Amino acid sequence: MAEIWSNWSGSLKFTPGELAEPGSEEEAKTIVEKALEEGRKIRVAGAGHSSSPLVVTNSVLLSLGKFKSVENVDRENSTAWIGTGLTVKEGGSKLLEHGLSLHNTGDVDIQCISGAISTGTHGTGVKLKNLSSMLIGCRMICADGQIREFTEEKDGKEFFDALRVSLGSFGIMTKMKLRLQPAFELERREWCTHTDNCLEHLDELISKNRNFDFYWYPRSDLVKLRILNEKGKGMQTLDYADCVEEKSGWAIDVLPKERDLKFDEMEYALPLEAGPDCFREVRKRIKDRFRKTVAWRVLYRTIEADDYHISPCYGRDTVTISLHQNAGFPFMEFFQSIEPVFLDHGGRPHWGKKHTLQSSAIRKMYPKWEDFFKLRAEMDPRGIFMNEHLEKQIFGLR
Ligand SMILES: Cc1cc2nc3c(=O)[nH]c(=O)nc-3n(C[C@H](O)[C@H](O)[C@H](O)COP(=O)(O)OP(=O)(O)OC[C@H]3O[C@@H](n4cnc5c(N)ncnc54)[C@H](O)[C@@H]3O)c2cc1C
Repeated sequence: MAEIWSNWSGSLKFTPGELAEPGSEEEAKTIVEKALEEGRKIRVAGAGHSSSPLVVTNSVLLSLGKFKSVENVDRENSTAWIGTGLTVKEGGSKLLEHGLSLHNTGDVDIQCISGAISTGTHGTGVKLKNLSSMLIGCRMICADGQIREFTEEKDGKEFFDALRVSLGSFGIMTKMKLRLQPAFELERREWCTHTDNCLEHLDELISKNRNFDFYWYPRSDLVKLRILNEKGKGMQTLDYADCVEEKSGWAIDVLPKERDLKFDEMEYALPLEAGPDCFREVRKRIKDRFRKTVAWRVLYRTIEADDYHISPCYGRDTVTISLHQNAGFPFMEFFQSIEPVFLDHGGRPHWGKKHTLQSSAIRKMYPKWEDFFKLRAEMDPRGIFMNEHLEKQIFGLR
């Protein structure tokens, strides 16, 4: 019997039937073949930072934490093959040695790049797509136990648009080919101001800066504005805000923040134009009902539209609004009270964060849901890469 497994925040705990950490692709293949023979299911975990039960299983839980290679770096075309055990921080610094960079990161760099890609993890920037957009090839242990290589060039855009955000339901990726950028530097400035100033200048803040987001602490009416640009570009001064932090350096070092404080989170992706009204409504509801009990922030970010079948940004430039509650504090009443506001504004839930939606509601949010469903069934007809959460709540297979 394996040890108890916990996600980062501690809100999910379970004991997998077996916890396997292979050292090579061949070893991973043997584990999959054995599971197939025994009729057991397999889930692959990244760094365990999702707080939805994506990797919860009483069968085999696979970690590829030893897969840390960076190979076939092509500086001319800014591509590289990387092992799927690399975190954003590890992958980012190894790629920097080759003069390459991810185009963006989320708020932290502790997720595996594979885990971040699989759930549509994003940073902020209205002209920047989520991290899944980097995936242009992979080696995968498939549902028949065979290892296959897929590339967008050979297998087509349609297949990759489904694979990019697929929650580990297509197979186990051991290596990924990423579309990268030549390494670049950014300047980071953080500003403090009143929420009303931020909302008044919101369009300009979003459109004139490479990366912009803001967060509001419910116990005050102040917000923190976070702005990153290439040197000398974007908004350099704000006459309605105080600059409280400045930093510059390689993008991969200044984009993510260090997070010691653990938390649970709900996040919804909304059409860009719905963002301000939704935020106002969320803010009012929190002030009316939860101001005394919610200590942590509400974060507002933007992402460019994509066309990946079940990406929360499918077909629309996007605003995301996320609610954070300190780990260990009750969060469900708070999240459930705000969730209908997100839904009223056309929200789609983040796959790796808390939400209460069922398949019947989720499938209506994605025009290409049925196409995704068909491809997933072709990749894994017997559902060996499923768990209860995916089968029941997300895909509605049972
Ligand atoms: C502190 C913190 C900050 C965060 N910040 C952001 C943020 O800024 N933006 C944002 O969008 N999200 C954010 N998240 C959410 C987080 O990025 C996602 O939940 C992400 O999927 C976690 O990656 P992971 O490596 O921990 O993967 P896991 O949570 O372990 O797994 C996620 C999914 O990836 C699949 N997967 C992992 N590896 C493979 C593989 N090799 N092959 C196939 N499938 C695989 C798993 O099966 C699972 O379905 C944050 C979470 C935390 C805890």
